[in-house]
Amino acid sequence: MQLPFAESFKIKMVETIQKSTCQEREQWIKEAKYNLFNLKSEQVFVDLLTDSGTGAMSDKQWSELMLGDESYAGASSYYKMKKAINDILGFPYFLPTHQGRAAENVLFSVLVKEGMIVPGNSHFDTTKGHIEFRKAKAIDCTIDAAFDTNQRHDFKGNVDLEKLEKVLTSYPLEKIPMIIMTITNNSAGGQPVSMQNLREVHELSRKYGVRVVFDSARFAENAYFIKQREAGYADKSIKAIVKEMFSYADAMTMSSKKDAIVNMGGFIGFKDEDLFKQASVFGIIFEGFVTYGGMSGRDMNALAQGLDEGTEFDTLDSRIQQTAYLGNQLKKFGVPMQEPFGGHAIFVDVKRFLPHIPKEEFPAQTLAIELYLEAGVRAVEIGAILADRDPVTRENRYPDLELIRLAIPRRTYTNNHMEYVAVALGNVFERRNEIKRGVKILKEAPIMRHFTVELERL
Ligand SMILES: *Cc1c(COP(=O)(O)O)cnc(C)c1O
Repeated sequence: MQLPFAESFKIKMVETIQKSTCQEREQWIKEAKYNLFNLKSEQVFVDLLTDSGTGAMSDKQWSELMLGDESYAGASSYYKMKKAINDILGFPYFLPTHQGRAAENVLFSVLVKEGMIVPGNSHFDTTKGHIEFRKAKAIDCTIDAAFDTNQRHDFKGNVDLEKLEKVLTSYPLEKIPMIIMTITNNSAGGQPVSMQNLREVHELSRKYGVRVVFDSARFAENAYFIKQREAGYADKSIKAIVKEMFSYADAMTMSSKKDAIVNMGGFIGFKDEDLFKQASVFGIIFEGFVTYGGMSGRDMNALAQGLDEGTEFDTLDSRIQQTAYLGNQLKKFGVPMQEPFGGHAIFVDVKRFLPHIPKEEFPAQTLAIELYLEAGVRAVEIGAILADRDPVTRENRYPDLELIRLAIPRRTYTNNHMEYVAVALGNVFERRNEIKRGVKILKEAPIMRHFTVELERL
């Protein structure tokens, strides 16, 4: 008999989580104005809001904390992180930042000016936020297959090279400061980008003289999928694949709260010293001196160790198999999802789950509320509320996909928790026709409204 899959770690420390009653959850979600970001963590049993900064550090990472050097300038922790970034990712210059969006803020302060165009594959919401905040425009060139959850495609995160070349030829090149490749493509459902696509985008970028920046939060998961799915990579190590991937980038931004498995942290990697120097000026204004940039020494140490662990096959295999486990359990209940399953999360296709709720009533948010009420499971809406309003017309933007995301923190929950979540969502699926109406917005912020929006049930 073939041995079953088992995680390549054991648990040394545990944290208690609390169950609640249906009546309690009714009260709490009402008090939270039907925005799951407003819930207290103790009001949640299984928290799949995000995999960002919610993972469990290893014993080696915790021990690195004790070795942190908190010197203001030139700390050994800075050099440890610098070495890890150069050795594992291949970027000789870097700036630490407190998280991923801070890396975007610093880099885009140099590169993005009013009226500019930034093409890429489904820019992440903070990335788009930082582009639009500077009165520039993000153009999504992702392949069409990404928007059809029924269609099987190994690399739904890919850029459509024709769409990209059209952007590169439609605008003056000095208006295009960079192409952003998001690996994995978070907004399309944690979908990977193939090595071939990264290579071809790089070739196109050389033809037009535009730099390529990787938004790299889940680069290691991307490498895992390349190993599993792309011809020629099965026998290569994750670290070798990662090195090749980044050979096609001029710079990178990183939210270390994802694949570097720390609770807080980020950085920018540069190949070009000149760009690094320009960005350093903004790094110092926004984040801190170049050798700590918003991070404490101990956190830089844990990050360096996390980069090493996060690019080991066994770490990734445990993680991605757990995501697939949740997906396969949900499949048994007939729950419609983005497939193939992504790395960090399962994305439920709400247009197929609640087809009778009109888009104006925010069906994905409606489902996230129902799942919370059912079992105290917190998911997040990736739909029209997140898509926000058009910055010019101020009309609601209705994206092609209305999704809820069940993001799985790294090394945190067991498969029993996944089973619990699957049954909870399966129960909601069974009673889906009893959900008659959605929600209405009462209050919203002018940008990135999903974090603070206040809602009412219809
Ligand atoms: C999380 C994330 C970011 C932003 O990083 P933070 O650490 O949350 O600020 C940017 N891009 C992608 C693809 C992400 O997943």
